[in-house]
Amino acid sequence: MHIIMASTECAPVAKVGGLGDFVHGLSRELAHREHQVEVILPKYDSLRFDRIEGMHEILSDLQVPFYDRYIRCSVLYGEVDSIGCFFIDADSEQGFFNRGKIYGEADDADRFAFFSRALMEFLYKTGRHPDILHCNDWHTGLVPVLLYEIYAGLGMDRTRICYSLHNVGHQGWTGTHILHMNRLNEGRLMAPERMRDPGNPQAINLMKGGIVFSNFVTAVSPRYAWEVQHTEQGMGLQSVLQTHNHKFGGVLNGIDYNTWSPEVDPLIPTQFSTDSLDRKARNQSALRERAGLADEHKPLVAVVSRLDHQKGVELMRHGIYYALAQDCQFVLLGSALDPAVNADFERIKQEMETNPDCHLELSYNEELAHLIYAGADLMLIPSVYEPCGLTQMIAMKYGCVPVVRRVGGLADTVFDANYSERPFEERNGYVFDEGTYAGVESSLGRAIRLWRLFPEYFRQLRLNGMRMDNSWNRPARHYLDIYEHIRT
Ligand code: ADP
Repeated sequence: MHIIMASTECAPVAKVGGLGDFVHGLSRELAHREHQVEVILPKYDSLRFDRIEGMHEILSDLQVPFYDRYIRCSVLYGEVDSIGCFFIDADSEQGFFNRGKIYGEADDADRFAFFSRALMEFLYKTGRHPDILHCNDWHTGLVPVLLYEIYAGLGMDRTRICYSLHNVGHQGWTGTHILHMNRLNEGRLMAPERMRDPGNPQAINLMKGGIVFSNFVTAVSPRYAWEVQHTEQGMGLQSVLQTHNHKFGGVLNGIDYNTWSPEVDPLIPTQFSTDSLDRKARNQSALRERAGLADEHKPLVAVVSRLDHQKGVELMRHGIYYALAQDCQFVLLGSALDPAVNADFERIKQEMETNPDCHLELSYNEELAHLIYAGADLMLIPSVYEPCGLTQMIAMKYGCVPVVRRVGGLADTVFDANYSERPFEERNGYVFDEGTYAGVESSLGRAIRLWRLFPEYFRQLRLNGMRMDNSWNRPARHYLDIYEHIRT
């Protein structure tokens, strides 16, 4: 099958969070199964060019419709971990992809709607008619609309669309100018059964357009697929998803064990496996040294996360103070877009400056993330909502026990050491329900007590997590079934 991924992220060249890992991991697994897979990304000025092999221009004069004129684009090609990637560069006065970052600009909706149009124009003009175009999140929600409103009529009628929802908290709410920008029919599309936002009758909702026009829609875990239809996690899209539930389902993400495995990870000082778990201690020492923590025998609790309201920043903050009060150590690696959240954690960082048991690093740092997974004992993930969550799966692979809130993909992958009904060898962490300080304290408290009082049992929990199969093997088969289903 010929599959093209349309995305705003692909690890490691353009990654903000799990979407980047998803596109990279699923593409590699599909390619491994002999499918022809390509990825299309914007050519951001912030790409990690050092991770792209053989980048060269393949098209210099792609004229992309933009209101009543055209913007010239060029397309470059290069390989990222052997995945063929097309990068679209826009010669626009707005400098759409030259902002030094991926998201967080006032005109994000325009930037990514333009990217969607440009990628469709590229496929059309170069005669690329993939069997499957796999779109992701609101940024490429306009692609299915463009396919069925414009390009199918121009001969691209064989291509089918799979659309994945990674985070329904961001839907691409925008104005009708997006339709004019793309020469789309406002009268037709601004209807309640198409792109009109359910909450604001003046607004266009790009994610809704993606849902309505795609051939199949997935959410990134079964639990999240249920939550977005039946709870406020649908953020206004509940009834849209219920209407379309004949073509909607949850597929749990995998993680790429070529990148995320302590047996082969080149970014950690000492590799280890289930047969050599004791070697994890050397990574713990290295982490203590890197983070300037005292070299003492204490539980080491960690957070690796975007610092966003979604991730439960209040509870993370409480977790830091609680863990320190329990005589543990704490390392936090986090990046915040919101200046108020950033300032709050900066303040804690200052406060902890001389504390030998606590270290906060407020940045995005791939290398340090690997060292933390390899060195920490416990990973705190107190999310308000969590579509899938990769950090718990990565942590488990590195023998780091997750302490999570029972939401979304966390509920599908972490099974409580004490209260799960699963057999012991499938229990792999600690789970709490209420998003409260008491919830964090009871679960983290149980984990810390086990570490101290029953180290053998704690070791078993680590091993249970390391032995879980969260690879892309099963999810890739699931996606291939979906692709086959919509092709016929
Ligand atoms: P989300 O996509 O909502 O951010 P996920 O758990 O699905 O959350 O994926 C997070 C990914 O981003 C993981 O690979 C994690 O290691 C990585 N990550 C998050 N924050 C940082 C950071 N500050 N530095 C490095 N990697 C990070």
